[in-house]
Amino acid sequence: MSVAENITFIKSHLKQGVQLVCVSKFHPVEALQQAYDAGQRIFGESKVQELCEKQESLPTDIQWHFIGHLQTNKIKYIIPFVSLIHGVDSVKLLTEIDKEAAKTGRKVNCLLQVHIAAEETKFGFSPSELMDWISLGDFEQYEHVNICGLMGMASNTNDEDQVRCEFKELKQLFDKLKTAAFASNESFSEISMGMSGDYEIAMQEGSTLVRIGSAIFGPRLY
Ligand SMILES: *Cc1c(COP(=O)(O)O)cnc(C)c1O
Repeated sequence: MSVAENITFIKSHLKQGVQLVCVSKFHPVEALQQAYDAGQRIFGESKVQELCEKQESLPTDIQWHFIGHLQTNKIKYIIPFVSLIHGVDSVKLLTEIDKEAAKTGRKVNCLLQVHIAAEETKFGFSPSELMDWISLGDFEQYEHVNICGLMGMASNTNDEDQVRCEFKELKQLFDKLKTAAFASNESFSEISMGMSGDYEIAMQEGSTLVRIGSAIFGPRLY
């Protein structure tokens, strides 16, 4: 199946209110252009340099999402144009994004990444750590970031029950935070969860943004 066919197929399976982030990391601009021509406008990249290069050579109405682990010394390169940063996994990173965004006068959309997987290697706040930090109220001091919701990655396993449990945990945490701290904040509305292998489950559990790469472009050649 072609890139365009894959996009059409996935879009026809999205639940209402769910948006597709086309994860294009490691794929050439020609492949992104095919997705663009099929109507896709949201693209996700995980490396700053790659993101910046692609942004310069593709149409300007693309919304670029950063989905990787962001190093503080590279924030400044994406701040001028990034439309959503998914993986904000520490208070330090949020603080640095706020500082860099202040220099440009932009207010940058961010998702807080929560560690929901059983694996040790994935980045993110633990749910209790995030609840504790939010309850301090410190997040209100950030004037140049817009906290739009949460992002998480489930364990890389075939055990669907476990994956479902992890997505449920993220949704529950989102609901708790919404009630406790973000009730009056309309932009706190996104739950980024679900990839090629588990997006159906993620949508059933309340995802609003699915991040899909290999089901669109095939395997990545590293
Ligand atoms: C690479 C990546 C994806 C896409 O993974 P696929 O399995 O190819 O759909 C989604 N989210 C993050 C954070 C990624 O790094």
